[in-house]
Amino acid sequence: MIKENSVIPFDVNACRAVFPALQQEVYGKKLIYFDNGATSQKPQVVIDSIENYYSKENSNIHRGVHHLSQMATDKYEGARQSIQKYMNAYSSDEIIFTSGTTAAINLIASSFGELLIEGDEIIISAMEHHSNIVPWQMLCERKKCLLKVIPINEKGELKMDVFEKLLSDKTKLVSVTHISNTLGTINPIEKIIRLSHEHNAKVVIDGAQSIQHIAVDVQNLDCDFYVFSGHKVFGPTGVGIMYGKKDILNAMPPYQGGGDMIKTVTFEKTTYNELPHKFEAGTPNISGGICLGTAIEYLSKLDIVGIQKHENHLAKYAEIQLLNIEGVRLIGTAKDKTSVVSFIVKNYIHLILELY
Ligand SMILES: *Cc1c(COP(=O)(O)O)cnc(C)c1O
Repeated sequence: MIKENSVIPFDVNACRAVFPALQQEVYGKKLIYFDNGATSQKPQVVIDSIENYYSKENSNIHRGVHHLSQMATDKYEGARQSIQKYMNAYSSDEIIFTSGTTAAINLIASSFGELLIEGDEIIISAMEHHSNIVPWQMLCERKKCLLKVIPINEKGELKMDVFEKLLSDKTKLVSVTHISNTLGTINPIEKIIRLSHEHNAKVVIDGAQSIQHIAVDVQNLDCDFYVFSGHKVFGPTGVGIMYGKKDILNAMPPYQGGGDMIKTVTFEKTTYNELPHKFEAGTPNISGGICLGTAIEYLSKLDIVGIQKHENHLAKYAEIQLLNIEGVRLIGTAKDKTSVVSFIVKNYIHLILELY
């Protein structure tokens, strides 16, 4: 008997077939797309979902009582629930729509950052994306806090012994990437979360490169925040998620002021709306949210383990072939890594000159 939600074993050709972008030819050859770490292509269901929204459902949410508005609101909130289920968040109130990972981290830095005081410390790592560096630098400047950085070894792994020494009772926040976008390293976030909590520090996990590769269970991980972008998980650009534990989100001040984040407004005093709307000021990216829900539904039906095996095989093959080329050096050789292949070509400027 087939279980209702059993996954179909991974089949690379069947998978390719649902991505229209992969059906075209570029430079006279069938398109091979390797830049998924920067943004993924979109399956037909997501493209259909965008078209369907703008052709049949378009209207503003949370305010209209008419048919379209009710339908769009239901779909948008349904997407929030799909995302909650996928991450196993305790409540859909903990799923905040943002415009992406960058916006999510800036939200945390601005709002949670308001709770910090001079002398507090924040720890990030040397392998962070700029989006997980600059917001903390800006916060540290604003609040006179100290930013500390976990170094990495030559394989591209975090030096966990140094991390343990950087942690202290002054540490209020640790923000690290689950998987490095340049090295592919899978960080030991369970350990990072446990050690940080021993010092009462909150933990932000940048999941931009992990949500599509690893089954993420935020309750099991016990992270305080987990953020990711829609466009890297087969969804549209301009939408992303900030997961945060409810009690922490309730303690944080609102981020931006405007419509939807308010309950009552007078010129004397405004009361703020409850979660999740408290952090969602203004008309959101409605089609983006709905279609991210579609993308997550698509993702949840994939055979993640089968994909992992296929990707590891491809990455190994690429590495072996690259190492056959003189002057190529691989970057990021961590024991635990995903299918990211980074390399440096020695004297690559000379190679380019020779080509011309
Ligand atoms: C892509 C990426 C980001 C930034 O995501 P945006 O979609 O540009 O906001 C942050 N962190 C990591 C690890 C990434 O891969």
